[in-house]
Amino acid sequence: MLQIATLDDDTISLPAESLEALRSSIRGEVICQDDTAYDLARGIFNGMIDRHPAMIIRCSGVADVMRAVRFAAEHRLLTAVRGGGHGIAGTAVCDGGLMINLERLNSVRVDPQAKIAWVGGGAALGDVDHETAAHGLACPGGVVSTTGVAGLTTGGGYGWLRGKLGMSIDNLRAVEIVTADGQFRRASEAENPDLFWAVRGGGGNFGIVTTFEFNLHPIEPEVMLCNPIYAAEHAREVLRGWRDFMATAPDELTTEFFFWTIPPMDHFPEELHGKDVVVPCAVYYGPPEEGEKVIQPLRELAPVLLDISAPMPFVEIQQMFDPYLPYGEVIGYWKALYMDRMNDDMADTLVDHFLDRPKNGRICPLVLHYLNGVSQRVPNDATAFPGRNWSYLMEYNLTWNDPADDESCIAWVRSAWNEMRDKYQQHGGAYLNIDSYSDDGLAWVKETFGDNFPRLQALKDQYDPMNLFRLNPNIPPSE
Ligand SMILES: Cc1cc2nc3c(=O)[nH]c(=O)nc-3n(C[C@H](O)[C@H](O)[C@H](O)COP(=O)(O)OP(=O)(O)OC[C@H]3O[C@@H](n4cnc5c(N)ncnc54)[C@H](O)[C@@H]3O)c2cc1C
Repeated sequence: MLQIATLDDDTISLPAESLEALRSSIRGEVICQDDTAYDLARGIFNGMIDRHPAMIIRCSGVADVMRAVRFAAEHRLLTAVRGGGHGIAGTAVCDGGLMINLERLNSVRVDPQAKIAWVGGGAALGDVDHETAAHGLACPGGVVSTTGVAGLTTGGGYGWLRGKLGMSIDNLRAVEIVTADGQFRRASEAENPDLFWAVRGGGGNFGIVTTFEFNLHPIEPEVMLCNPIYAAEHAREVLRGWRDFMATAPDELTTEFFFWTIPPMDHFPEELHGKDVVVPCAVYYGPPEEGEKVIQPLRELAPVLLDISAPMPFVEIQQMFDPYLPYGEVIGYWKALYMDRMNDDMADTLVDHFLDRPKNGRICPLVLHYLNGVSQRVPNDATAFPGRNWSYLMEYNLTWNDPADDESCIAWVRSAWNEMRDKYQQHGGAYLNIDSYSDDGLAWVKETFGDNFPRLQALKDQYDPMNLFRLNPNIPPSE
């Protein structure tokens, strides 16, 4: 007998025969609290989240996913879906219910002639980079290689190639997906086009993607990384200079502005450890010598403390932040905000937030994305993803080590985020993939999806009327 939580805020007892029948129909594993695999299987990126599902189904393939979804629907089980486990809100795991763990679905197959990759629903970005780089190809993803492809792509997918090649969803050709009725479907522009529209930005609301089919792109053996590091004393002038430079930068250049503290790691000079800095980081998609010329002004915005700009293999750039964000060891509370402008006053407020942040926070508390190029030229209603017409994405990404700091760190994030939102009237939602959205309810989800929300809700009615997939930025059915 197993006690397990349901969608109705209730608990039911699953008889031993029912569990046995499930076990014998699954090629992967059915893991319960007493099993040795339990703690590893329930673990996710954000060390703040310590939830205990009653049961974990670690799927070995599509048939297991179909079986798991049917079992969950039949018993109306509270169900969490884990792709790469990176969602900062922690929705990949639940207390008392069922966790469908996809980590074994991490295969990547590349057709180098057709420039297409088929990627499993539990693969990490590093799995994709590894396979595509072998053919001199790249797939637009995110900037930390341990991030799951599934959550990132169904939520949008911002990475270093977005200026020239668009977001991850803009490179998606099709998905194979198990919907809440346990049916396996294909969705593309030609097959189930409404479902294809919804999974490109609508998050995990519509089913479990078992395979993503992506277009790939040729990439130079090395691309130019712009990585000049400026002391925080120059933050205001560097931020303004970066903003002004980017206004006329080519699509090939994608940039993120980091407010950072130099970590105590050997590859940084010891005298700089612990120093607050700002970094107008960028990657140029094209020949590195061309990129070097383009980025030059970003290296001269003020006296430079340290400049580690260099041509690098793209796959190495994709891993450069990994050591600062160890899986499961970081506690994090993040809030994001789309912004329509960055005037001097707003820039100064951001710098003030950086300098005033809790000093127990870890190294990279604020990140500002300049949203330019191809990703911003896709109409807002072409996919479910709503964030095409914004100029910036601001992230308050506070991470820390000691649970005793949870309350003060969360309070700081919320207060800085609220100030930015209210003082400058930035009311258009956020990139929910980088957001502890659970605290802000349906209003926040609606604000973010804007005009796309009614169509998403109609599709939710069609594909998941019981709201089985609700542990996500949830679009509830209309009833
Ligand atoms: C350190 C770090 C760096 C990041 N960098 C970037 C970045 O550069 N660019 C960017 O765009 N985002 C980035 N993100 C955010 C990232 O996109 C989200 O965290 C995303 O949810 C990660 O996907 P995942 O599969 O690992 O998530 P999980 O935590 O496993 O899942 C999150 C949600 O996604 C859904 N989901 C998971 N698997 C599936 C599936 N197979 N089918 C359907 N739905 C599924 C479920 O609703 C689940 O609740 C980063 C996050 C972190 C923590």
